[in-house]
Amino acid sequence: MMRKLLVATHNRGKVAEFADLLQDMEIDWLSLDDVGIAHEVPETGRTFGENARLKAQTYAAMTGLLTLADDSGLEVDALGGAPGVYTARYGGAGLTHEQRYRLLLQNLANIPWEERRARFRCVVALAAPDGTLLAEADGVCEGFIAWEPAGDGGFGYDPVFYLPEYGQTMAQVSSATKHQISHRGRALRAIVPQLQAL
Ligand code: IMP
Repeated sequence: MMRKLLVATHNRGKVAEFADLLQDMEIDWLSLDDVGIAHEVPETGRTFGENARLKAQTYAAMTGLLTLADDSGLEVDALGGAPGVYTARYGGAGLTHEQRYRLLLQNLANIPWEERRARFRCVVALAAPDGTLLAEADGVCEGFIAWEPAGDGGFGYDPVFYLPEYGQTMAQVSSATKHQISHRGRALRAIVPQLQAL
């Protein structure tokens, strides 16, 4: 039986990415727009986990659907783990992805390689149709903030996220590789057993 699963996002690209990452599962993937929800849950949490739980539980309670939510971002060692939950808003409102990652490069201008160590982190949370939390999983992808951008794949900070094992940025590796190693891929695969158990 195809199970309906709401992904707590207005971004259809994200739903497609989730469906692609978990393509072996018999799931009818729905976005917030597919179920007519315009409401935006403010990401007020201090951790990725708090934001993921908040979104999953709020939208599940609103719709009565099994709901999966994620929150992700970049943690840079030289910045004490910032921008973290503020990654999407780094530099303020209205900037493009490119303006944000260029600002990051500027803010790390004289920072030596070892302190440019960084990681993408993603937490996914799964909520039952009544809004109770069913499961949570975390995924991490380790790398460094490059000296300059390279590549045009992916999105967000991918062009400045250098993967030492590949000698390339996240924007240069294939999408198959990104799926394999990304924080989102790892977090989603970690939650599969709990999804399958339902
Ligand atoms: P959110 O989880 O949709 O709130 O995303 C947080 C922000 O983190 C995004 O706007 C991106 O800037 C950044 N981000 C999250 N995942 C990735 C990724 O896989 N590549 C590049 N940037 C990412």
